[in-house]
Amino acid sequence: MEIREIIISLFYLIASFLFIFGIKRLSSPATARMGNIYSAIGMLIAVVATLLNKNIVSFEYILLGIVVGSAIGAYMALKVAMTDMPQMVGLLNGFGGGASAFVALSEFYQKIGPDVAPDIKAAVAISISLLIGSVTFTGSLIAFGKLQGIVTGKVVKFPLQNQLNILLILALITLIVLAVIYPQEQIYYLTIIGISLLVGVLLVLPIGGADMPVAISLLNSYSGMAAAATGFVIDNNMLIIAGSLVGASGIILTNIMCKAMNRSLMNVLLGGWDNTASSSAVSGGKDVVIKSVDSEEAASIFDAASSVIVVPGYGMAVAQAQHAVKELMDVLEKRGISVKFAVHPVAGRMPGHMNILLAESNVPYDKLYALEDINDDFKTTDVSLVIGANDVVNPAARSNPESPIYGMPILNVDYSRTVIVVKRSMAAGYAGIDNDLFGLDNTFMYFGDAKDAITKLNNELKNM
Ligand code: NDP
Repeated sequence: MEIREIIISLFYLIASFLFIFGIKRLSSPATARMGNIYSAIGMLIAVVATLLNKNIVSFEYILLGIVVGSAIGAYMALKVAMTDMPQMVGLLNGFGGGASAFVALSEFYQKIGPDVAPDIKAAVAISISLLIGSVTFTGSLIAFGKLQGIVTGKVVKFPLQNQLNILLILALITLIVLAVIYPQEQIYYLTIIGISLLVGVLLVLPIGGADMPVAISLLNSYSGMAAAATGFVIDNNMLIIAGSLVGASGIILTNIMCKAMNRSLMNVLLGGWDNTASSSAVSGGKDVVIKSVDSEEAASIFDAASSVIVVPGYGMAVAQAQHAVKELMDVLEKRGISVKFAVHPVAGRMPGHMNILLAESNVPYDKLYALEDINDDFKTTDVSLVIGANDVVNPAARSNPESPIYGMPILNVDYSRTVIVVKRSMAAGYAGIDNDLFGLDNTFMYFGDAKDAITKLNNELKNM
C-alpha cells in the first residue's frame, strides 16, 4: 500500500469516528448542535481525503459541482420554511439515491462494460446499487410530490396492485441473477434501472399523505443502503461506513415513528391508514357542544391556576408561535405558576419538530417532557394548553376502537382539570378525523392563529 492510500485510509477512519460520535451526540437536544458540528467536520475530512485519490481525472468538474451544489443547497436551506422540511429531506434522499445509481452505472462501463473482462463481484454490487438507488430516486420524488401537493396525498389503490409489485420484484431478482451470470450484457443493468424506477413509484404511491414522514424516513434508510452498495462498487470504505450509518439510523427512526403511531411498518407501506376516513364514523355522529373563550377569559383561567402543561403541535410550527409561547412561559412563571411542556414523539411533521422550535425560542431543555414521562402528571394539572395540536391529544385513540388512530399513544390532556385548545377552526388534523377532546366538559376552544392568540393572552396576563 503506498503512502497516499495509507493517509486516505487514516482520514477515513477519523471521519468515521466523528460520524459515530456525532450521531451519539444527536440523541439529546443539549448536545445535538455539537453532534452536527462533529459530523460536518467528519464529512469535510472525508471529502478532502477523497480528493487525494489518484484516480481523479478532472478537478475542474468537481469544483464546478461543489460551487453549483453549494449554491443550490445554501439557497434551499435559507428559503425553505421549517414546515416544508420533510419534503426537502425527501428530495435530498432522492438525489442521494440517484447519485448512487449514476456512480454504479458509470462503474459498469469502467469495470465490466461490453469491452472489459467480467468481474462477478462488481456485477453483484453494481446491480444492487442500481436497484436501491433507482427505487430511492423515484420513491423520494413521489414522496416529495405528495407532501408538496403536486401528487395526490390520498392512499392510491388499484386492482392487482400487490400482484404487480410481487411480479416486478421477481423480475428484478431474475435480472440480477442474469446480470451476474452474464456480467457484460448491459441490457440487464439498464432493465434493472427501468423496473426499479417504476417500483419506486408504485411502492410510495399507495402510502397516504399522513404516513409520508414515515415513508421519507424509510427512503432515507434506502438512500444510505444505496450509498453503502455503491461503496462496494467503487471499493470505498468511507462510503460503506457512512451509508450503513444512514441505513441503520433511518430504519431505527422509522421503527420509532411506527411505534409512536401504534402502526406496523407493513400497515404503513400498504396504505393502511386512509386519511379520507369518515369523520362522523369516528365521532359516532353525536351532537357535540363546543365552548369557546376569548383572550380575556383564557387569561382568567390561567390566573386561577398553579400548574400548566403546554402541548405544542403542528399548528405552533405553522404559526411560528414558539417565541410567543416562550414569553407565555415567562409570564406564567413570574406569577408562580409551574410550566412544563409535553412533547409527543410525532407532534408536528417530523421527528423532533417541536423540540427544535422550542429550543430555538430558548425554552430550557429540562422543561420538555416526553410522553411517557409526563402522561401521569395531567391528572394533577390545573390547565393543559394545547397549541395547534390535534391528533396527538385525541382521546379517540384511547377509547374508540372504530377510530383509525385507535391504539396510538396520546397525551392525556383530557385528564387535567381544564383544557384550553388554541387553533383556528374545528378543522381536523393530519389524520383527517374529528377530535372528541373539543366537545368535553372541561375543554375550552380558544380560536385564532396560534401566534396571535398567545400574544393576546400574554398581553391580558401582563395587564392583570
Ligand atoms: P395535527 O396535524 O393533528 O393538527 C394540527 C392542528 O393545527 C390542525 O388541526 C390545525 O387546526 C391547527 N393549526 C394549523 N395552523 C394553525 C395556526 N396557524 N394556528 C393555530 N392552529 C393551527 O398536528 P399534531 O401535531 O397534533 O399531530 C401530528 C400528526 O402528524 C399526527 O397525525 C402524526 O401521526 C402525523 N405524523 C407526524 C410525524 C412526525 O414525525 N412528527 C410523522 C408521521 C405522521 P386549524 O386548521 O383549525 O387551525
